[in-house]
Amino acid sequence: MNPRGEQYVQDLLKTEGLDALLFFGLPSIRYLCGFTGSDGVLMVTEKESIFLTDSRYQRQAEDQVSTNKVKCYKNKFSDVVDKLCGKMLNRVGFDADHLTVSAYEELSSLSNGKICWCPISSQLRSLRASKDTPELAALKKAAALNRAAFEEVLPQIKPDVTERAIALELEFALKRLGGECNAFDFIVASGDRGALPHGVASEKLLKNGELVTIDFGTRVDGYYSDETVTLALGPVDGKLRQIFDIVLKAHDLALASIKPGMEIRQLDAVARDYITAQGYGDYFGHGLGHGVGLEVHEYPAVSPRADALVEEGMVITIEPGIYLPGTGGVRIEDTVVVTAEGYEALTSIPKQFYQIDPA
Ligand code: ZN
Ligand code: ZN
Repeated sequence: MNPRGEQYVQDLLKTEGLDALLFFGLPSIRYLCGFTGSDGVLMVTEKESIFLTDSRYQRQAEDQVSTNKVKCYKNKFSDVVDKLCGKMLNRVGFDADHLTVSAYEELSSLSNGKICWCPISSQLRSLRASKDTPELAALKKAAALNRAAFEEVLPQIKPDVTERAIALELEFALKRLGGECNAFDFIVASGDRGALPHGVASEKLLKNGELVTIDFGTRVDGYYSDETVTLALGPVDGKLRQIFDIVLKAHDLALASIKPGMEIRQLDAVARDYITAQGYGDYFGHGLGHGVGLEVHEYPAVSPRADALVEEGMVITIEPGIYLPGTGGVRIEDTVVVTAEGYEALTSIPKQFYQIDPA
């Protein structure tokens, strides 16, 4: 077991008065014990850790997993309940954000009143929030692939090419360079489609005079990159240039304000208050950012509703945007790690205004 994760879980067993804690969510299972397959349950007690999986993954789990024991199940939930009952473990927590209602009902009915099931949710949210050196190394590699792929594809970003073609070229370059998979369906949103914060690449052709927003990322050793650039195709009108400059300034102000110990909602407010003061507050509808790690969107959400503090080692995005329906939009996103003094950027594509001129 990962020592930091193990300590976190042991502390939780004590504070929650649990005999065992079950993990069903794959990112936390991977974080805690190293398993990279698609099905399994991790059971942690004060004395031991057991990883249970199905027969497809037995060999893989024996090679990968750092728990005391690896067991194979035939029927996932009844075998888990049998194991808990056999060990007289009565008060059992589970990662409630990763268990469906029907699975919970099945566990409850199989245990027939012998187990007290305790949903654990917010108590687990910061388990993976602060990244250690090997995690940061993977995140940096993933971010470096973004830049290398972007530089390769940049000459192909020109009028009369479809958004989808750009997304495909980025995907191909990232995978050829070593990326494991796409972080999400890439966003390539040009012209008035730029007003869609999640405008997945379409068959629309790029045109001169448009802004193009490209949001993309990959995965290395399980860890994601996430970055957004907005480019100009030829000269753009003054309104678009104005919102670009406002978003870039909001992005820069937020980055410069990052300090461990500040409220996350205050970090969001730095960018949001600036955009609002420029008259565009109604056009920045989403949170400023999110945590990135074994999931591309993970704790903490950087939003006006966040109730936690910025901590050293957190990896978060800073991604303000302005979206004007019928006109276009701008988003600029970097992924950074919080350091003792402020932050270190992981993503590195330059974000200043960049105009692609026709050849
Ligand atoms: Zn993104
Ligand atoms: Zn993002």
